[in-house]
Amino acid sequence: MSVSAELARPLVDRYGRVHRDLRISLTDKCNLRCTYCMPAEGVPWLSKDNILTTDELERVAQIAAALGIVEVRLTGGEPLLRRDAVDVVRRMARIVAGDGPLEVSMTTNGLRLPALAEELVAAGLTRVNVSLDTLRPDRFLALTRRNRLDDVLDGIRAALAAGLAPVKLNAVAMRDVNDDELVDLLRFAQDHGCEMRFIEQMPLDAGHVWSRVKMVRGEEILDRLGEVFTLTEISGRGAAPAETFLVDGGPTTVGVIRSVSLPFCGACDRVRLTADGQLRNCLFAREESDLLAVLRGGGSDDDVARLLHTCIAGKLPGHGINDPGFLQPDRPMSAIGG
Ligand code: SAM
Ligand code: SF4
Repeated sequence: MSVSAELARPLVDRYGRVHRDLRISLTDKCNLRCTYCMPAEGVPWLSKDNILTTDELERVAQIAAALGIVEVRLTGGEPLLRRDAVDVVRRMARIVAGDGPLEVSMTTNGLRLPALAEELVAAGLTRVNVSLDTLRPDRFLALTRRNRLDDVLDGIRAALAAGLAPVKLNAVAMRDVNDDELVDLLRFAQDHGCEMRFIEQMPLDAGHVWSRVKMVRGEEILDRLGEVFTLTEISGRGAAPAETFLVDGGPTTVGVIRSVSLPFCGACDRVRLTADGQLRNCLFAREESDLLAVLRGGGSDDDVARLLHTCIAGKLPGHGINDPGFLQPDRPMSAIGG
């Protein structure tokens, strides 16, 4: 890998935001069909020929590390459906970023963790977020259209047993779906030594049925939890999307991600790479930078670095969900990489 000195500088946008976190979607495929993410029949899959190879992913991560990226989060779709997911982790974790190795984390639905957690840790995975929206099997089936709650719970146990810490559990709070389970979910996390994170639902569903009025706002989440637990805010959030709170004096913490009602775009340090090689400077970006074309067109490492800088230079100050002219991106969440 050789990036010239002129380009081997931090990824700073027009608003002074320094980008350190690269989210890589390993696949758009998934073994669940969460209603807020994918329709029952799935979505038209990305062309297999356009999915980045592991060599290409490694090359991009190496170049990104030279530009100040220190963390790679692997996501999807379901990242563990990629056959060589463990190898991807191993190759990423060997990359030097700043003073140490590139930190490699993952967001997963957990279904394949029982089989892979130990190998992933041995390969260098340091942290994992597992999605868990409900503890009730009937609701899990209705929400994900698959009867696999027990497998997710086994996945969480496998992650803990493999030594991943903290294991964060992500729940999208939804009106009349799981908004009466927020306390139960936090208790579950407390009992299992995990950190619960509640997320406001964002307009990223393939069915375009998101409703601002129905959305469970972070404020309401905190009110409901506050009826049962004593929450003490932990300061020093940095670029993290979650506001975190100590639960009943700790050590358990809970995070609330108010992406819609209290956007944290001003501190955003993330850039995304889709499984088909498109760079996105925001989840809600309407434009992408075609890295696949550069990689497959014989582009040099400097060409890749230049495209990363161009992508970041075009980043808007905020996601605009609350603007009257907001348009949902064409890709659903599963094809962007959450
Ligand atoms: N399949 C993996 C999983 O479910 O964790 C990784 C990909 S998924 C797209 C990443 C995260 O995005 C999950 O925690 C999921 O709950 C969240 N997500 C998906 N659609 C969302 C939406 N419309 N609003 C908020 N979060 C969403
Ligand atoms: Fe699959 Fe994750 Fe989307 Fe659910 S949220 S359908 S698990 S990609």
